[in-house]
Amino acid sequence: MSELHLTGVRPWGGDLSDVDIKDGRIAAVRPAGGVVPEGALDGEGRLLIPSFSDVHVHLDSTRLGLPWRPNDSPGGVWANMLHDRAHWRDAEVPMTERSTRMLELLIARGVTRVRGYAQIDADCKLERFEAVAAAREAHAGRADVEIMAFPQAGLLREPGVPELMEEALRTGANVMGGLDPCGVDGDPVRHLDVVFGLAEKYGVAVDVHLHEPGELGLFSLGKIIERTRALDMHGKVTISHAFTLAHTPAPRLDPVLAELAELDISVATVAPPGPNTLPLLKLTEAGIRVGLGDDGQRDYWSPYGNADLLDRTWQLAFTNGFRNDEVVEHALAVGTWGGASVFSPEFRALHGVGDRPGVAVGDPADLVLLAGETPAAAVMDRLPHRTVLHAGRVVAHDLELV
Ligand SMILES: [Zn+2]
Repeated sequence: MSELHLTGVRPWGGDLSDVDIKDGRIAAVRPAGGVVPEGALDGEGRLLIPSFSDVHVHLDSTRLGLPWRPNDSPGGVWANMLHDRAHWRDAEVPMTERSTRMLELLIARGVTRVRGYAQIDADCKLERFEAVAAAREAHAGRADVEIMAFPQAGLLREPGVPELMEEALRTGANVMGGLDPCGVDGDPVRHLDVVFGLAEKYGVAVDVHLHEPGELGLFSLGKIIERTRALDMHGKVTISHAFTLAHTPAPRLDPVLAELAELDISVATVAPPGPNTLPLLKLTEAGIRVGLGDDGQRDYWSPYGNADLLDRTWQLAFTNGFRNDEVVEHALAVGTWGGASVFSPEFRALHGVGDRPGVAVGDPADLVLLAGETPAAAVMDRLPHRTVLHAGRVVAHDLELV
């Protein structure tokens, strides 16, 4: 039986407390100042929050840690895909090393649950998937990592892609990916037939990248909703980006949100700026599971990203125009527990804006001790003094793996 004791922590900024952890779960939370067991970890008055969950990160699309490369990505999903295809093999180190380093950086900064994407197409075949699988293996015991088989170049435009996707699902991928069913493959019915057909065959979840705007996005979303209902895949489907939800005015939007909530279809956002910013409060108040992701990280698509979900949480608050502490803290609840609830139905959906779960008796001891006066202050200050726990064990301290 493994045990760990934390002293002097403030769960979600509350009263100074001591916390007992047994067998990977929180066993007791008491007022601080009692008997200190030998070997207890001194929390130094830091905040105690659930660990971050990165539910949308391209583990095979990163140049973090490599020399700066001036960004010359052309823009647009297809053009960027071709640009990446032309250059990714020229990186200074092999993909396995890049993916492994990327996962290390995420964990060191506070992430212990990852839905990592592995691109599969007619050009790279399973090479990138195998690199991401090796990264997962290298960090087994530090984080729970799902691998999403991701058809970044579509399923139908080039030959042999569904067969490659199936091979990935047979050999360790946990989530079946889809991408812009109208926009990329130009055949939403066949695209979604492949996505849902393989998901059903292998009993895995579905996650569809949906950049399609406005009416086109609503159309594709309707097809996804139809299949989720027909196959009874409640709680097993995620829409990533879902820009159309940002473009759709309230009278049209509200019934769509009600359907997503009813079918427990979750949403993953990377907190984009401007017109693609999702109405976060409307989504979470409708009871929809929402998680946060990092997307690509300083790659051949974009120069942004530093593998820090706390920074991305700040971006989520900023792009939503949040100023009051309650909603800034809500962004932190989404970046931590919200992502966990997308990762697995075992973790309940957030109960609205004031909900701060994940640090009570019985909760998994996937936690972060984070420097900061209050949770909202911690989002603004993003201090490096952090201790990361996975399954009741310290896995990182002050941005370095232990
Ligand atoms: Zn993405």
